[in-house]
Amino acid sequence: MSYLKKIEYEIIPQDSFWVFRSCPKCGRKTHFKNTKKFRVNANGNKLDIWLIYQCEECKHTLNLAIYERQKVSSIPKEEYQSFLDNNEQLAEMYGKNMQLFRKNKADIDFDSIEYDFVKLHELLENSDCGEQMVITINNPYQLKLRPEKQIAEVLGLSRSQVKNLLEKGEIEWKILQNRLIIFRNMVY
Ligand SMILES: [Zn+2]
Repeated sequence: MSYLKKIEYEIIPQDSFWVFRSCPKCGRKTHFKNTKKFRVNANGNKLDIWLIYQCEECKHTLNLAIYERQKVSSIPKEEYQSFLDNNEQLAEMYGKNMQLFRKNKADIDFDSIEYDFVKLHELLENSDCGEQMVITINNPYQLKLRPEKQIAEVLGLSRSQVKNLLEKGEIEWKILQNRLIIFRNMVY
């Protein structure tokens, strides 16, 4: 009896994204890192809230706007308190929020991101169409990773092995939204 193996992973960045941009104080492009602190400015009943990033060389700050001119009443009380408390978990959550960086036109240094493939589940089904493996890799943080690199990493293969298997048609892949789906026909 042949089988179909289904495995699902999720790519989780280990740390906040780093911003790569020119620092006015250093006079060149440097890395800015998450200080895990917020800045909250109240103006009447309007709020501005930023996540503070800092040049790793000179500590020049880069504020990433989370809320701008937002009505106090529209921010959940609990979240607002977390901003005031510099809640580290919340700061890390925003530090991995692609949307925030896009909105602030802050370029993420994708090469520096360390991440893990976290296995969500594995399933074995009987199948009539030969031995097959289907691997789904969810990328909720939208990291820019080449499919060939992801395939090599989850299957524990070298780049050239992957290239070879792709050419022979033993591996195929497609991208669906923020998901990479890998089909592997097992040949023994
Ligand atoms: Zn600097």
